[in-house]
Amino acid sequence: MQNLREPGLFRQNALIGGQWMLAASGRSIDVIDPAAQSVVGTVPDMGATETRMAIEAAASAYGPWRKKTHAERAALLEAWQALMLEHIEDLALILTIEQGKPLDEARGEIRYGASFVKWFAEEARRIEGQTIPSPTPDRRIVVLKEPVGVCGIITPWNFPNAMITRKVAPALAAGCTIVIKPSEFTPYSALAIGWLAEKAGIPAGVINIVTGMPADIGNEIMANETVRKISFTGSTRVGSLLMRGAADSVKRLSLELGGNAPFIVFDDADLDLAVEGAIASKFRNGGQTCVCANRLLVQAGVYDAFAEKLSSRVNAMKVGPGTEPGISIGPMINEAAIAKINRHVDDALAKGAKIVTTRTNMPGGAQYAAPMVLTGATTDMQLANEETFGPVAPLFRFETEEEALAIANGTPYGLAAYFYTESLKRAWRVGEALEFGMVGLNTGAISTEVAPFGGVKQSGLGREGSRAGIEEYLEVKSFHIGGL
Ligand code: NAD
Repeated sequence: MQNLREPGLFRQNALIGGQWMLAASGRSIDVIDPAAQSVVGTVPDMGATETRMAIEAAASAYGPWRKKTHAERAALLEAWQALMLEHIEDLALILTIEQGKPLDEARGEIRYGASFVKWFAEEARRIEGQTIPSPTPDRRIVVLKEPVGVCGIITPWNFPNAMITRKVAPALAAGCTIVIKPSEFTPYSALAIGWLAEKAGIPAGVINIVTGMPADIGNEIMANETVRKISFTGSTRVGSLLMRGAADSVKRLSLELGGNAPFIVFDDADLDLAVEGAIASKFRNGGQTCVCANRLLVQAGVYDAFAEKLSSRVNAMKVGPGTEPGISIGPMINEAAIAKINRHVDDALAKGAKIVTTRTNMPGGAQYAAPMVLTGATTDMQLANEETFGPVAPLFRFETEEEALAIANGTPYGLAAYFYTESLKRAWRVGEALEFGMVGLNTGAISTEVAPFGGVKQSGLGREGSRAGIEEYLEVKSFHIGGL
């Protein structure tokens, strides 16, 4: 990879027990730059054997790691976070080259990813148990918090840095050791921060990174009894497959899955604020974000005005390679992503929707999707029922609050929802009626390390970030002391 200030960050081997390794089979997979459509490099195509080795390495490292004091683990996490920020330009470039998002967004993701490392370094110092009044005078009861053990961490391509740190930081802070399986589309961001963890002094075997195609690695993580927990971010389909696979050895699970976020604009909304929020929530990462507004529900009285304001902002967006200055929308991750977007748009147009944005300056190449606003969206369209995962903003018209809530909640998903109103009463009513794990009122930004992140219904189990994030990696032991 060209132009890195620290070439050591570009690693084409996997990391097991402190060794940078090739696959036992000698096989590798190509990693593609979605903008240039060219091969950036390769990573080992590992399978069950290497995954087992990584799990064994994590198990060997577990005893000494959990015995460290919380302050020692926190200091190592802080050193790791400092290195991420020191190398932010290189990490952002690696991320943009393998994933496609504009460089500025990639820098934002590195800062966001590093914020979890800092947060959980601090939380490590506050893993507190409990004392419980005993039913008899000769006994004492205390509640101890202990690490879960070896964890398998499986992450998606859309946030190749932050989806890893959001899991690894609390796991390490709690005293767990881990095996990471990054997305096969974006392994280099994972390997780069693995290398920085080594430089920060995190001992060999605490973080292991296995690269390759998912099925064999996933099957070993699911079946291996040494793995006590799986933390997964990705699609609902794979999440439920992991849940079934983890059942035989009764592992703990955290699942951050797909969404179908409604973004509701009421007649009494501050429209400029709503447009600002829609741009941030819908078009960040080219719309390839789990908490992206997927359905924009707009009340009849402001429907036309909102469509016009949003369209003029979308018309001004520049599409192109994420490494070029001034780009708002980079390439989509792969052909399958483009095909899904096209399928959703074609279906919507066939059922009466209209594209109200204009676009004259698309770069050449099938890897780009035009950002657009569609009016006349209806609930029978595919884009109402599945994540489009692209820069398409469909506007649904509604008349009443009840109707908006029925549409918003009429999905098996429950990750994020947004709504805009200036009425205090409506704010509480709607905020409480939305069946989602995260709700933004008059804001399109809900992701931060300080607040719980996660979904209800088929959007998942558990929470990341916040105080709740570390509990996912802690067991509760009640300790009874008698004969006093
Ligand atoms: P995906 O489910 O296809 O893949 C996610 C990860 O699972 C990848 O590492 C992949 O290799 C792995 N995987 C695939 N099949 C597997 C198997 N059989 N066994 C084990 N691992 C397997 O998802 P994706 O396309 O990479 O990511 C996009 C999806 O992730 C979207 O649905 C999006 O909403 C969701 N997502 C959710 C959150 C959240 O916090 N809720 C955040 C980001 C993305």
